[in-house]
Amino acid sequence: MCGIFGYIGSRTASAKLVFDGLKNLEYRGYDSWGVAVVSETKLKIFIKKAAGKIGNNNVDDLPDGNIAIGHTRWATHGGVTDTNSHPHSDCTGNISVIHNGIFENYEDFKKKLIQKDHKFISETDTEVISHLVEDFNKKLIFSESVKKAFNLMTGLNAIIAIKQNEKQIVAIRNGSPLVVGFGRGENFLASDASALRPFTKDVYFLEDNEMAILEKNKVRVSNVKTGKIVKFRKQKLNWNVDQGEKGKFPNFMLKEIYEQPRILSEIASTGSGLMEKVAKLIKKSRGSYLVGCGSASYAAMAGTYLFSKVAKRHINFAIGSEFGYHLDFLNIDSLVIPISQSGETIDILESMKKAREQGAKIVSLVNVLGSSLYRMSDEKMLISAGPEKSVASTKALTGMIAHLVLLSFSLDGGVRKGKKVLMDAVDSVKKTLSDKSIKNIKKLAGIIIDSKNIYVIGRGLSYPTALETAMKIKEISYIHAEGLAAGELKHGPLALVAKGTPCIAFLPNDETYGANLAGAMEMKARGGFVIGISFKPHEVFDYYIPVKDAGVATIIPNIVAGQLLAYFLTIKKRLDVDKPRNLAKSVTVK
Ligand code: GLU
Repeated sequence: MCGIFGYIGSRTASAKLVFDGLKNLEYRGYDSWGVAVVSETKLKIFIKKAAGKIGNNNVDDLPDGNIAIGHTRWATHGGVTDTNSHPHSDCTGNISVIHNGIFENYEDFKKKLIQKDHKFISETDTEVISHLVEDFNKKLIFSESVKKAFNLMTGLNAIIAIKQNEKQIVAIRNGSPLVVGFGRGENFLASDASALRPFTKDVYFLEDNEMAILEKNKVRVSNVKTGKIVKFRKQKLNWNVDQGEKGKFPNFMLKEIYEQPRILSEIASTGSGLMEKVAKLIKKSRGSYLVGCGSASYAAMAGTYLFSKVAKRHINFAIGSEFGYHLDFLNIDSLVIPISQSGETIDILESMKKAREQGAKIVSLVNVLGSSLYRMSDEKMLISAGPEKSVASTKALTGMIAHLVLLSFSLDGGVRKGKKVLMDAVDSVKKTLSDKSIKNIKKLAGIIIDSKNIYVIGRGLSYPTALETAMKIKEISYIHAEGLAAGELKHGPLALVAKGTPCIAFLPNDETYGANLAGAMEMKARGGFVIGISFKPHEVFDYYIPVKDAGVATIIPNIVAGQLLAYFLTIKKRLDVDKPRNLAKSVTVK
């Protein structure tokens, strides 16, 4: 939840640069902030820190300097006060440390340091690190002192340390994420790669127990346990500077909807390098499970149909919050595939912990690199949808499904065919986003805007599509909508269809067409206003939304059509599409 940002180079306004970097990390949630800057002309490190949000604060009163580090704190040890905010200094004020995580065994060290006359001013576990480094630095060089302190710490932590007159930033992690950004004659450090976007695309994500020593013109990485130098390879981030910004769009949701063709074609062209490895793991396992919450659960459900249809393989499906109640039979041969945008959804994390206790292997499909789910997984497939800021998921969901399409084809040995099918979906999504199509969907939103209830039906892959469309309509437009397996209509819900009730039917060009059309007719016979989302028109439709066929991947453009309908219903009702009431982007509480 907390954030780290660091800079070393030739720019003199480094404090301001780091301060602005922290602003990019604010969305993660925090309760205090602070910046430290090393000034060559002054004799000590200057620090500005305060409890509360960054708000209208600034760091204009900090001196110029070429090295700066900053932190947004989410308090664990000690109250939310100015003094407890990071960075924390040693007794001399020459060393400055910021820290994410919990130094679990700090108390013993604190006692010993007090006996050695170290003076503590905060209640934090972090301050103990500053004094430990100070103590070790009497005999060891600075970076070795930081390393020695880190190796004594238990818990999941990331620490960053600087010292007056040492032209370097020392950073080490275990658990908490840290990413190095490479510039020309300057280098950066952040807890979240998205904060590096304005500066560089060349990054290296530190692995657990790796230490990076950043200097202006070089970065050295080593393993703190073995002492060995790590020959790292820089990774190129494939995002634009304006990702994460609204740009020309009125809100994030619309921007993220429009990003889909690009993201999907990137997934099709690169896939996940792990795809074939994961396919092997699935084949080897005795029982595999796709697990997700909310929209990700619909992706998981879609995965069961894709695996069956494409790869002729059975895979189980579970909702994150329920999985914990029926996993007693998992064992070391089981494979669990949790799917999550944020990688912080508590219901997923808790059920994964239980799955792990049973010995299962965990291969996650996750969007946020370095997130808790990412870190706890044995293998990780990155969705690579870029930062998603709108609460209602769009591009992350279609990205999840795109990976599952590829994975199902990989299982059958046909990843190339999977890529081709995905490119057909890209083409179809583009058509759904064309001006003509947008106009058509907007018009429909105007027609059904005053409805109290909307029913959405589908079969096969269109069943999770129906669930997702209904969810999207509910969560942002606040109109009650229900997604149904079309075959279930007669078992109850049909009783609710009255004259004029909007009934949306997904009718792709697959084996479900005939039976699903029958469902649409049943609704029509009860007076329903039938909206057909299909590759071809039909006389039963009162309103038609064309979606070009893309084989099994038609689920993707169909979902996009549903997103657009939900979007325009919300806009017409003048509601906040990005921040619906009562909901949060990452659900970190039960
Ligand atoms: N445990 C430290 C503190 O309470 C670090 C918290 C954080 O990760 O922000 O200050």
